[in-house]
Amino acid sequence: MSTQLLFRDDAYLKTATATVTAVTDKGVELDQTIFYATGGGQPGDHGVVVRQNGERLSVVDTRKGEGLGSIAHVLAPGSVRLEVGEPLVLELDWERRYALMRMHTALHLLSCVVVAPVSGGNVGVDKGRLDFDIDMSLLDAEKITREASALIARGVDTRTVWITDEELDAKPELVKTMSVQPPRGAGRVRLLEIPGIDLQPCGGTHVRNIGEIKGLVVTKIKNEGKRNRRVEIALVE
Ligand SMILES: [Zn+2]
Repeated sequence: MSTQLLFRDDAYLKTATATVTAVTDKGVELDQTIFYATGGGQPGDHGVVVRQNGERLSVVDTRKGEGLGSIAHVLAPGSVRLEVGEPLVLELDWERRYALMRMHTALHLLSCVVVAPVSGGNVGVDKGRLDFDIDMSLLDAEKITREASALIARGVDTRTVWITDEELDAKPELVKTMSVQPPRGAGRVRLLEIPGIDLQPCGGTHVRNIGEIKGLVVTKIKNEGKRNRRVEIALVE
């Protein structure tokens, strides 16, 4: 059974109610969730599920479930086994998620400052990175920091746009990532738009306004192989 992804419409939900629909080897599946599952370079969410008797169980990871469109909430080892049909209250580890939202959105800006195909990437709480298929001599840490900071200062609102598979096929230039193609077949694809700055397919969680990123700095540029020049960033307050 597929899980309704509440964070797709509102990435700022910190709590919600849900009902257990399945318990598998992968974890607990729910009818709806605020927990993002590992994917697209963004790690799965952490948090807590609260049972009706008040018992709190830690969610230590969130992953794709067994069924198409289902999400598995991974409980801490030794947790009691939940029952199908059991109602729960979900509580997100918001501090961690918000840091990931800021970092994730910052990487969208990085992909605009460095104009080259993206060959990899990873969103972390303390650092994030994108790998580019670009000549090393074209990467200047100070220049990238300065230009990305100038974008953040514009304080633009982000927005979610949905297009059909056919519309995406007609605009292949929207896809910057060489390794990850957006999921097709569902009939429509989700895009993140930062008006005047960026538009690309993305299923992750983002801040409402790029000003919330506050600031970023390029901490490292590494040569990771012919098609992988790695640009690492950290957020600054
Ligand atoms: Zn994104």
